[in-house]
Formats: sequence, C-alpha cells, structure tokens
Amino acid sequence: MSFGHVPAASLTGAGFAVLIAMLVAHLRPTGLDPGTGYWLSALLLVAALRTGHAIAYLRTRDRTSRYWQPTFLVLTLLIAFCWGALVWMLPLHESTELMTAMVGSVTGIAATGVAMLHVDRISARAWLTPILLSTVVYCLWQGGPFGLFGGVSVGGFMVVLWFSTGRSHRRTGELLRLRFAGEELAEARTQALREAEELSAAKGRFLATMSHEMRTPLHGILGLARILQGDVVSRDAHQRLHLLQGTGHLLLGVINDVLDFSRLQEGLMELRPRATHLPNLVRDVCALSNVTAQDKGLDIRMHCDLPADHWVEVDADRLQQVLINLVGNAVKFTEHGHIQVTVRQAESTSATQARITFEVQDSGIGIPPHEISRIFEAFHQVDGRYERRSSGSGLGLSIARQICRTMDSDIACQSVVGQGSTFSFTLDLPCARDPGTAPESAPPQCDQQSPLPNFDGTVLLVEDNPVNTLVAQAELEQLGLSVATVVNGRQALRWLASHQADLVLMDCHMPEMDGFEATRQIRASEARLGARRTPVVALTASAQSEDLRLCRDAGMDDHVSKPFTPADLRRVLRLHLGRPAAASPLSRAGQGDESTVEMTP
Ligand code: ADP
Repeated sequence: MSFGHVPAASLTGAGFAVLIAMLVAHLRPTGLDPGTGYWLSALLLVAALRTGHAIAYLRTRDRTSRYWQPTFLVLTLLIAFCWGALVWMLPLHESTELMTAMVGSVTGIAATGVAMLHVDRISARAWLTPILLSTVVYCLWQGGPFGLFGGVSVGGFMVVLWFSTGRSHRRTGELLRLRFAGEELAEARTQALREAEELSAAKGRFLATMSHEMRTPLHGILGLARILQGDVVSRDAHQRLHLLQGTGHLLLGVINDVLDFSRLQEGLMELRPRATHLPNLVRDVCALSNVTAQDKGLDIRMHCDLPADHWVEVDADRLQQVLINLVGNAVKFTEHGHIQVTVRQAESTSATQARITFEVQDSGIGIPPHEISRIFEAFHQVDGRYERRSSGSGLGLSIARQICRTMDSDIACQSVVGQGSTFSFTLDLPCARDPGTAPESAPPQCDQQSPLPNFDGTVLLVEDNPVNTLVAQAELEQLGLSVATVVNGRQALRWLASHQADLVLMDCHMPEMDGFEATRQIRASEARLGARRTPVVALTASAQSEDLRLCRDAGMDDHVSKPFTPADLRRVLRLHLGRPAAASPLSRAGQGDESTVEMTP
C-alpha cells in the first residue's frame, strides 16, 4: 500500500517544491538564491529516485526480497530530510510572511505524507520526524514569541501525529489480518468443497463400476438359467430354476437402481427422446405390473384421455421406468381395492407441444404426512411397516424424482394413511409424428403366449467373453439363425474373408484387435471390393454418447448395451435382418417372467 502511493505523492511533492522555489524567486528582488536552488535540486533528485524505486517494486514479481523494505525506509528518510531542510535552506529570515507560509506548508506536507504512509508505523515516523523536528528546532532557534509559538505548536502536532501513526498501524494490521484470515477461510472452504466433490465423484464412479462389473456376470448367470430351462424336465428342477431366476432378477433390479442412482448423482444420465405412443407405453406399464397385482387380487385400471394417434417426443425408457416404479409401489403397498393409472392432457396443449399429467392412485396403506417429503430421499423407507421385509432398496422414488427433474418436471405425492396415495407428475412434451413402425415393446403377457419370431440368416458373433458367447449363441439359434463365433476382431476379419454374414454382432473391447478397428477394416474392404454392406451392431459396455459416437465413426450401424436381453437382440434383428419370416415353433416358458423382472426397477 505504501509503495502504491509513492509515484503520485512524489510527483505532487516535486510540483509543490517547484512552486515554492518559484515563489521565492518571485518575492526576492535578485531572483532565486543558491540555497533554494540546491534544496530544489536535491529534493527533485530524491523524489525521482523514490518514484523509480516504487515503480520497480510494483512491477517486480519478487516482492518478498529483503531489499525492498530497508531501501524504501532509506529513501523515505532522505526525502523527509529534504523537506526538513526547507526551513534552513530557503531565505526565510528575509520575510516573516514567507517564513509563516513555509512553516505551515511543511507541517501540511508532513501530515499529508503520514496519511499515505499510515499503514506502516516505521516509515510514517521516519517521514514525519525529520521534517517536523527540524521545523521545531528552526522555530525555537528563531526565538521570540513568534518562534516560540511556532516551535511549541508544530512540536505538539508532531507528538499527536507520532501517536496516531501507532494507532493507525495497529488498526490496519488488524484489518489486514482479518482480510487474510477471511481469504484463508474461503480458500480452505473451497478446497474442502473440491475434495468433497472429488470424493463423491469417486464414490459414484466406484458404484457405477461395481454395479457394471456385477451386472455382467449376473446376466451370464441369468442367461445360462434361461438356456437350462429348455433342458430340465423334472417339475422340481423347473421350480428351483424359476426361483433362481426370480432371485437373480431381484438382485439385477437392485444393481440397476444403484447404477442409475450413481449416474443421476454424477449428472451422467442422458435423455434419449424418440417418437413415442403414450397410450401404448402406459398400457405396457399396466400390463407389466398386472401379473403381481393379480396375484394379490388387485385390479389395475387405466384411464387415458389421449387421442389414439397421440405421439410425443420423450425418452420412453426413462418415462416407463418412472411409471413402473410408481405402479410397482402402488401394487406393493396396497392389499385391497384397485390401482388407477390416469393420463390426462392439459388444456394448454397446442399443436406442437403437449402438456400431459400422469397420475398413479392406489387404495393402499398410505404414507404419514411427515414422511411424504422424505420418501423421495435415497434409501429412505417408512419405518416399522411390513414392506421393510419385502423387496426394495429405497432408491426407486429418488431415481424416479431425479428422472422427472431431468425432464423439467417433479413428482408430487398426496396421501392419507389407511386410504391410499396418489403420485403425479406433468410433462411438457413436443408432439411427434407416427414414425410408421410398430411399437418395440409389447406387453410380456403376449410374449408369454405367442411363439417366438423366426429369423433367417447367419450371424457372426464377435465376443471374447465365453459366457456371453454361449448365452447369445443359444438365444440367436432359438430364433432360427445360424451363428458363427470368433473371439476378436482379427479372427472376425479372417472369417469374413471366406464367409458371408447377414449381420455382425461386434463386441467393442477385445484383445488383439478391438471392434472399432475390425469394423473400420470391414468397411474399407467392402469399399475396395464394391461388396454389399454387412450390418454391424456394436455390443457396448456403456451407452454414453461418447461410446456411441466412436461406434458410428467406426462404421457401425447400431448398438446393443451389454448385458443385453433377448428383447434387445430381437429389436436389432428385426431392424437389420428384416421382419421375422414366420413364428418359430420354439417357445420358452418363463420368457415373459424375465422381461417382467427386467423392467421392474
Ligand atoms: P422401495 O424400493 O422401498 O419401494 P421407493 O423409493 O420406491 O423405495 O419408496 C420409498 C418408500 O416410500 C417405500 O419404502 C414406502 O415406505 C413408501 N412408499 C412409496 N410408494 C408408496 C405407496 N404407493 N404407498 C405407500 N407407501 C409408499
């Protein structure tokens, strides 16, 4: 702060010194006397040195050097001596008026300098003492009542300034300490916040990795159980297998919840809107939960006032996930009565934008008022109720709310204990056109009853995980396809050099040659030979947009997220091999069960 004041103060001081010299020259008949000339030269020289020194300090990066403070003090003393010398060097004895004016000016200069140097007691005192002491001595030396008055008053002023610099120094020190402490505190808080965020991100990554790593073998187990279903004949073994699958699917539901939760926490959940037929979507949700509802003797009623040709742009999977959770909870917490699912269009709906309210109402046990806001918290379950013993991670509603918030909405809940609960949310969705394809997901009950579709052709499965290969191969073969399997991209290229595939299912990460490189080479060789383009579908570990971009850039046509389900496989087969030729006579018991649990959060 002191250095910062110096350039302007020195310039003003030098200007003032020049004015004083001009005044003296003006008042004296012989013009400027040598004493004033020497004084002015000395003062200008020291002022220039001081200014240069301060500018050098302000520009330097190394302000911690020990050189700056002592040199600053020496230069302050020098300039103070120059000002102090004023009364001795100028011919003040020639004019009482000049003497009075100069004593007053010098005292004023001392006071102004103190105001600027007050942050540092030592330099402030180094400044004021030579100037005022010299003036006091000069006045007293002059003698007489005038000299005595001047000496005593300037001396008194000097004492006052001396003490006030001490006070000011202490106050400034205190202020600076507070400021630095505040800055340190803010810095410590920012650091703590950063660490907490990093920790939370690491926790999220850990959860996501763990759930992903658990999902892969679990899907292997479930897939193998699915294959075994066709082999076991005894009723008991069938039942045990069914139990095994049920338990596995429950575990899968929990893992999927944890994965979704950590993705939402990290803000990694991406919405993938697509043209969706809402009445069908809601009907699917009701049909899925109907199996459990019927077991409990409950009735799921659906009321949808949307026109039959109502299509909107929405992430259908996520919307379905929210609804399945709400309807699933309604079934879980209701013993008698019914569940009503209502879909309403608001009046504000326009030709391009639809405002739609979804409502799930049950006649179940209800939720106490003080618990209503808490049930949306992660892992919170209402205490002391029978559901504690039943399935549920306490993440469902938290995930549902976060998905709704990602869609710029929120879930509201009204409930009366013993009478039931109503959960509702409203979405503003852009209207869409009918894309002209049949809806992908059909109610599982239909699947259960109808035979599997039968496809025709050869699929090359490029996958290094033997369990995944076994399961996928069995499922593809059950759909009527012939399957060739290889374990990396290099083998795939070798196989394709001498065979023809109708579809390639390509794992992305494999040893020796990954799926991206293999696809690039397949596309290059097709271009070279002018051959037909073989559809390549990526088997990706994650469906983040970055991975999908890599797949697209490599020349792949589609993707299936691993671990994939039979329904995923059927979707890509339908898209890339054309519609199934006929219904396959192969039909597996329990396939519907699997989809049911797959979709249950
Ligand atoms: P959970 O996996 O336990 O169902 P949720 O987050 O879906 O987790 O729900 C949290 C809690 O909210 C439930 O454990 C239950 O106590 C309460 N709850 C949710 N839906 C209902 C409902 N329809 N009726 C009564 N209680 C409900």
